[in-house]
Amino acid sequence: MDAQPYEYRRRELVEPDWTRLPGWHDVTRDQWESAQWQRAHCVKNARQLREVLGDLVDERFYADLAADQQATATMSMLVPPQMLNTMVPHAVPDTDSFYADPVRRYMIPVASDRLADWTSHPYATRDSLHEHDMWVAEGLTHRYPTKVLAELLSTCPQYCGHCTRMDLVGNSTPAVDKLKLTLKPVDRYDGMIAYLRAHPGVRDVVVSGGDVANVPWRNLESFLMRLLDIDTIRDIRLATKALMGLPQHWLQPDVVEGLERVARTAARRGVNLAIHTHVNHANSLTPLVARAAQTALEIGVRDVRNQGVLMRGVNATGRDLLDLCFALQGEAGILPYYFYMCDMIPGAEHWRVAVWQARELQHDIMGYLPGYATPRIVCDVPFVGKRWVHMVTEYDREHGISYWTKNYRTSIERDDPEALTKQYAYYDPIDTLPESGRQWWRKQEQAALATAH
Ligand code: SF4
Repeated sequence: MDAQPYEYRRRELVEPDWTRLPGWHDVTRDQWESAQWQRAHCVKNARQLREVLGDLVDERFYADLAADQQATATMSMLVPPQMLNTMVPHAVPDTDSFYADPVRRYMIPVASDRLADWTSHPYATRDSLHEHDMWVAEGLTHRYPTKVLAELLSTCPQYCGHCTRMDLVGNSTPAVDKLKLTLKPVDRYDGMIAYLRAHPGVRDVVVSGGDVANVPWRNLESFLMRLLDIDTIRDIRLATKALMGLPQHWLQPDVVEGLERVARTAARRGVNLAIHTHVNHANSLTPLVARAAQTALEIGVRDVRNQGVLMRGVNATGRDLLDLCFALQGEAGILPYYFYMCDMIPGAEHWRVAVWQARELQHDIMGYLPGYATPRIVCDVPFVGKRWVHMVTEYDREHGISYWTKNYRTSIERDDPEALTKQYAYYDPIDTLPESGRQWWRKQEQAALATAH
């Protein structure tokens, strides 16, 4: 019999040995498992990366990194040791293996990763999902009828190169002057709570940022308890990539005890409290990450789910996705929930995949995982929202333009009579198009330049 396209074999999680890296040669387990130690030793620039990796990686890499940070990066660099340790996890890295590493490719992007032609799609925008346009109070995006996104703050314990909220999240970079939250946190939270009290049709709150792991625990607990006091709120999801990037945070005794109080209150009131995390590659899952997820489940959080981002060079093969899903589902107790197509932000073309590729990947991962743990690959279409990749209404493959419809109005379309009948466009990366399509875009760009002058 021919082999299956994917052969499942159980792989237990292993914490990579951090002492293989010269800068952490003497780091003890107690230090490693301390959230304070992890936060104090995050890598924020090429110099600090060199202090950890030393001569294992050539100067050419550090120069490549600095060039990207100075010219193109939309996110500043912030990599917790936990995440850096999952790059080239089971060998001593060298220049080539570090360049090729999937976690490195999105957490530490370098200039040579980006596409020379079409670094950005002509329709890429800073706030590609128009979340800011749909703010109904500072940080509160009301896009879907029954759900809101509450951005409590604009920082994370780690910054991902492809962050869709690059408009707001993180420090400004030479390429992007970030939007700033202006209210004091307490006033921002009051504004959100007031809106939710006044809108009983909203039943589901994604409590996010940034990353809620950066909200001081007392403030987060108080916000969550206030949400739980609103009896029309039935679902609360805490968005935290730190469950994977800094699991030490979610294992601190005061955080575990506080989360247990919130989970108990949610259960008593019949509210579904879940954690949504963001893992893009199986290598990121270590025993510490599994311990953080399982601790949350043990203390009463109803579910821990993963929303990964589909990216070329990182995870855009059936094998990578299935390896990740089996590690999430089988080893870490995390439900593989969604893979988002990487959004149309500047500088992201080398990561983005075309809709047809996403559809093929959805096809390739069907039938291996339990049905309830088979993730959906979704496209977050500007002005529309999440659509399963097979929901395209029309698709012009030559020019890479897909058209989508929707069945609800966002908060900025209440008076638009065509909101539910028109088609909304999404664009494939231009380098994935046939030559005729690429030429068409080149001509469009030349025409736009001529008009601008
Ligand atoms: S953790 Fe989430 S919000 Fe923070 S930088 Fe990464 S993708 Fe953006």
